[in-house]
Amino acid sequence: MPATLEKSTETIENTKKSNISSLIEAELKSIRQTRKASRDERRCTQCGYCITLCDYGAFTVDQKTRIVNYDSENCVSCGICIKTCPVRAMNYNI
Ligand code: SF4
Ligand code: SF4
Repeated sequence: MPATLEKSTETIENTKKSNISSLIEAELKSIRQTRKASRDERRCTQCGYCITLCDYGAFTVDQKTRIVNYDSENCVSCGICIKTCPVRAMNYNI
């Protein structure tokens, strides 16, 4: 294959990959904005396990009451708490 054709083919392939990556990133961003984890308060035992697991600060503990608060605004939909909550209190709400 001539060098110029090879270069053009490479450029096209790189453009395709870049476009696909952009589409995937946009879709993930859209999912993260709309799909937040929710907590079933009837199931939650307030064990606090999720506080150390969530890297985004969605769980905090009230120092006075020791109640574990959940703020879905901080959730980026990583799914860690859903997979690891011992009593399956965390779920996606869609
Ligand atoms: S890990 Fe589950 S049960 Fe424990 S505090 Fe978090 S949501 Fe509640
Ligand atoms: S899904 Fe991820 S970001 Fe959202 S609350 Fe659970 S651990 Fe935190």
